[in-house]
Amino acid sequence: METAGFIIVLGCKKCGKCDGVCETGALTHVDGIAMVDHEKCNLCMQCVKVCPNKALVYLD
Ligand code: SF4
Ligand code: SF4
Repeated sequence: METAGFIIVLGCKKCGKCDGVCETGALTHVDGIAMVDHEKCNLCMQCVKVCPNKALVYLD
């Protein structure tokens, strides 16, 4: 059985640095705050790498 985790958003600073890095459409912004759709996220970690504020956190 697959044991994939998911990305959570903690303390997004609305900097916009993660805009456009998500290729699956899982990462969107509401009033500037990042949100992740776990159904679409493939755990590529691009958003985690690009966030300068460590606001995107992988939990397994
Ligand atoms: S881990 Fe990848 S697929 Fe998931 S939200 Fe971040 S950039 Fe998108
Ligand atoms: S890069 Fe990080 S702090 Fe900036 S908008 Fe994205 S999640 Fe928020």
